[in-house]
Amino acid sequence: MTAVNLLDFDLDALAGWCAELGEKRFRAVQLFRWIHRKGEADFARMSDLAKSLRDKLTGRAVVQPLKVISEQVSTDGTIKWLFDVGGGDAVETVYIPESDRGTLCVSSQAGCAVGCRFCSTGHQGFSRNLSTGEIIAQLWFAEHQLRCRRVLPASERIISNVVMMGMGEPLQNYAALLPALRVMLDDHAYGLSRRRVTVSTSGVVPMIERLQADCPVALAVSLHAPDDALRDQLVPLNRKYPLAELLTACRSYLSVAPRDFITFEYCMLDGVNDSPDQARELIALVNGRSAALRLPCKFNLIPFNPFPASGLRCAPRDRVLAFAKLLQEAGIVTTIRKTRGDDIDAACGQLAGEVQDRTRVQARLTRPVIRIAALPPGAA
Ligand code: SAH
Ligand code: SF4
Repeated sequence: MTAVNLLDFDLDALAGWCAELGEKRFRAVQLFRWIHRKGEADFARMSDLAKSLRDKLTGRAVVQPLKVISEQVSTDGTIKWLFDVGGGDAVETVYIPESDRGTLCVSSQAGCAVGCRFCSTGHQGFSRNLSTGEIIAQLWFAEHQLRCRRVLPASERIISNVVMMGMGEPLQNYAALLPALRVMLDDHAYGLSRRRVTVSTSGVVPMIERLQADCPVALAVSLHAPDDALRDQLVPLNRKYPLAELLTACRSYLSVAPRDFITFEYCMLDGVNDSPDQARELIALVNGRSAALRLPCKFNLIPFNPFPASGLRCAPRDRVLAFAKLLQEAGIVTTIRKTRGDDIDAACGQLAGEVQDRTRVQARLTRPVIRIAALPPGAA
């Protein structure tokens, strides 16, 4: 009998599994709290759990952490962990401390099949989806490790925000993502606010609709281009779900979202998507033809973090500022993302872990990078 990993379960699933052992729901709640609130993996130490349940758990279940391959600490306090997920794959998780919050950037896949041109994870190709347990293990480890180091009272949490912005496209791993989100939000576990759990997606439209129905949390959409011709090249998924469909899904999501805006991420690439004309196109895209059609949104401009294989450069600072100014003047809240953890390659798009490419993404991406820089004016 292989033991089940209890990190794979949200509370309802754990209660269902405990019921099969003849245990009541309140026992499942106790167990869930030991695991997620106290960070306990050893059943023998779960002191107020009935001895009979502890005996049943032994051999049948485990709390399976991820193996840490390395930990790097940046001069700005950002911490990056590399976790071994077996089979030659490793994923990265980044903790970003700020004065008023602690954010954990979590991976959802080993690699990514979307293959965005400017993303080093995308350049590595795709190996596999992470399980719910592997997604939650990143939070479980970070929260409890850091808490031990800081000796905090049990009521205080280290991690107040989770962003699904590590390696992978979370909405292409929906079955594992959904229970993981439920564990993050559960008051018996991490008790995070829906507004502080963000799913970032390159635009998997049907799954945005599913998330809206199943578990609305804050949504960030990686836009990167104001028109389909350019977006098709930067974010290949756009060929399947073009901008018009994506924006319709965003609009619908807002009817239930915990925040009343969508965050658009826009990676600033020199000579590709950073011109004043493109800023104006972007404004027209989200503002529509009338105030009633305006899509409530914020823009987060991300200075491109270069890596050699991309063949791309970051837009110069003055162009990023000019781009931001145009959006702001059109009434769109726009921020320029601060780069964190640069010295340890923990910044956006630099998370590369180690993955066995089981797709042909790598081969595809090494070819046409140059075409992008040479796009006709108007398209770029
Ligand atoms: N797959 C999801 C979430 C992971 S990527 C998505 O694409 O949204 C998280 C963010 O980092 C995305 O907005 C992505 O566009 C951005 N990003 C990727 N590569 C980058 C790079 N090299 N420089 C800056 N941002 C990058
Ligand atoms: Fe995948 Fe996101 Fe990177 Fe695109 S930006 S390749 S969707 S991880």
